[in-house]
Amino acid sequence: MAPTAVPPEADDDGALPADRDITPFDTWHPAVSRLERRLLKAVQEAARDAREDGVAFVVTSGWRSKEHQQRLLEEGIEKYGSLEKAREFVNTPEKSTHVSGEAVDIGPTDADDWLIRFGSAYGLCQAYANELWHFELLTSPGGTCPTPRNNAAG
Ligand SMILES: [Zn+2]
Repeated sequence: MAPTAVPPEADDDGALPADRDITPFDTWHPAVSRLERRLLKAVQEAARDAREDGVAFVVTSGWRSKEHQQRLLEEGIEKYGSLEKAREFVNTPEKSTHVSGEAVDIGPTDADDWLIRFGSAYGLCQAYANELWHFELLTSPGGTCPTPRNNAAG
């Protein structure tokens, strides 16, 4: 008889705890540990260098399960009134780079400013013009970031 599968932990969908900040070094949390390896290394490197400038990175969202992404999309539809409008801010589980572990949301604002300014040195780029906090590896380290797309729908 095959062993029974261990049920996933409640936070295994990548949802972040409400009671504490998660940093790029909190690899015990699936939102961080399930990021694509190269992305995680780039963000950790940037976070170390930013810290020397007195800037601390907080991961406001990282890897998300499909279920988590679907929930965010449904919340977005409720908030913005339509799927079309919600899609400007929230992607579908099929398209979301958070689900594939290729995107990370960073806060607070001074950390975003730092990454927008210096992120390309690590290959990290702001992907969407309307999401100052959402970064992906969109160039090689030291390269030039592409112009951010208008929004998640574009
Ligand atoms: Zn994001």
